[in-house]
Amino acid sequence: MRFPLPLVIFSILLIFFPLDSFSRRTPFFEILIRSLPISDGGEDIGGEDVGSSSTDAYCNSWMYSVETNNIGTWATIPIICQSFVEDYMNGPRYLSDSKVVASYSLAFAKDVFIGGGKDAWIFDADETLISNLQYYAENGYGSEIFNETKWNEWVVLSAATALPASLELYNDLKSLGFKIMILTGRGEGQRELTQKNLNNAGYSGWEKLILRGEGDGGKTAVMYKSEKRAMLESEGYTIHGSSGDQWSDLSGSPTAKRSFKLPNPMYYIA
Ligand SMILES: [Mg+2]
Repeated sequence: MRFPLPLVIFSILLIFFPLDSFSRRTPFFEILIRSLPISDGGEDIGGEDVGSSSTDAYCNSWMYSVETNNIGTWATIPIICQSFVEDYMNGPRYLSDSKVVASYSLAFAKDVFIGGGKDAWIFDADETLISNLQYYAENGYGSEIFNETKWNEWVVLSAATALPASLELYNDLKSLGFKIMILTGRGEGQRELTQKNLNNAGYSGWEKLILRGEGDGGKTAVMYKSEKRAMLESEGYTIHGSSGDQWSDLSGSPTAKRSFKLPNPMYYIA
């Protein structure tokens, strides 16, 4: 039996390209996203189906994983999300997210019984009380590997500005009678610059400004900050609340009675 040649060719084509593959519409960005590693932090989790149909949706989902700490350790933001992060940080959403966190923090604080002069609230400094957005805008919004030399040059300027919602919360907590502890990963060598920057941004009247001392070198942020919380407790303070832009500001033992995570899609500190 003979088959016409066009029918044979068509049948072979059907084997490799079934008809339903032509009916599925695969948007360009989905192809792009599926071909990219999800994490830029050195761990390629396969670029499997991320269920996104646009870069924006993907970057939103990526940021969700950052904020919930689902992503774990990461070094730089995915390059396709650089303009997303830029828009988020400079747009109304970042301010709004920070404001909502501050409002829940204050609502909790108002229910705390204050008495005895040892009621503490801990704030981290960078991206919690003060914003280094100008520095990150000049350095790729987290798409570049952290450069300590450039960072130290920025710190010398003492030009970080107050996060408006945090400054308001800070002053409200002070008025309520909380002792404010500023616990930062910056080193003792930057104490004066940090004080100067905090003052420039409008902060004053804290109880303690705690920086990494000589004995804290090599400790992870979780270890260092946990030890400092333990130190405060041993001095008789009750740590009611803690505010930070990193999970490493908040986790570890002992923890504050309530921890409040501020948004930060630009970098991760273990
Ligand atoms: Mg911070």
